[in-house]
Amino acid sequence: MAHHVTLLPGDGIGPEVTSATLRVLEATGVEFEWDTHKIIGTSAVEEERPELPDDVPASIRERGVALKGPITTPVGEGFTSVNVQLRQRLDLYANVRPCVSLPGIDSPFEDIDLIIFRENTEGLYAGIETYDARLEIADSTARVTRRGSERIVDFCFDYAQKNGRDTVTLAHKANILKESSGLFLKVGREIAERYPDVNFNDRIIDNMCMQLVMYPQQYDCIVSTNLFGDILSDLAAGLVGGLGVTAGANFGDDYAVFEAVHGSAPDIAGQGKANPTALIRSAVMMLDHLNETKAAQAVNTALRDVYAAGEVLTADVGGSSSTTEFAEHLAARV
Ligand code: NAD
Repeated sequence: MAHHVTLLPGDGIGPEVTSATLRVLEATGVEFEWDTHKIIGTSAVEEERPELPDDVPASIRERGVALKGPITTPVGEGFTSVNVQLRQRLDLYANVRPCVSLPGIDSPFEDIDLIIFRENTEGLYAGIETYDARLEIADSTARVTRRGSERIVDFCFDYAQKNGRDTVTLAHKANILKESSGLFLKVGREIAERYPDVNFNDRIIDNMCMQLVMYPQQYDCIVSTNLFGDILSDLAAGLVGGLGVTAGANFGDDYAVFEAVHGSAPDIAGQGKANPTALIRSAVMMLDHLNETKAAQAVNTALRDVYAAGEVLTADVGGSSSTTEFAEHLAARV
């Protein structure tokens, strides 16, 4: 039976990496019925529709699962990020970003296998901002709640336990942000007691960054608030070959949206240069979520083989092949 999934190709490099990913999914033999929504973000605003048309969250609510390309957000003005709105409207509170080494990529470390769990609905991303034009003072509120902290830390521990992972590290700034980061750490310590089989430790965020750059192999599952999690996951992506190879997924209690960590990359959009690996790895997470474990393993194995051979790779990881050439080459090996 076909899986019913919402498809959001997005903009910028989104449509290119999405069609490459669909090519690879096709090769697995798993059947999908896609409900595709191309008009979203800037293209929706140009048609004088809301940047997040209501039929998009409605489609995901009906199907439970979406595969999503990146969507551009205007900087400093214009509409609120569609990506953030979608996470908030569907209450996708857990952003999961695995950083796993691939063979053949020129990076300072091999065998990195860590996962960042980022709180996805509150913190400094809650959008609580004021600006006093007369005094020229801007304030942003880092909203942290007990409920928001409990559910992301619990999600992380539950994932660690179910997937045989050893350790959860909580990253915070509770020495300075004693209330917001302090609450997150306090709740984290309480949740940790419910999982005696999983080790727990915490790191102050600045030290966490240094530790990740120097000893990334020592880390396993890392959980943090929204902004710190966002920054840490790009840092970790850099350790395994960059944004072109780093997958992501957003989970709530009822819905899941699978999307790469990277954005719409306007600097290379429409040139056939984008690396679709990140979205392909997000699609692998989606296959696992849909219990298509064999297909997920087949794509992962093919990816490792293609990277180990190193003959057909995109420019960001040292190759000279196009998005389509890479996808065709990979699909033939699935
Ligand atoms: P970006 O991730 O789009 O690009 C950063 C750099 O990485 C660029 O040099 C780009 O060329 C490169 N890059 C990214 N993905 C790549 C890929 N698959 N293959 C090869 N190179 C790749 O980040 P940005 O430039 O800060 O953001 C551009 C736009 O994307 C902004 O409007 C931002 O708001 C949006 N954005 C969207 C999402 C999302 O949809 N979830 C996430 C992040 C950023």
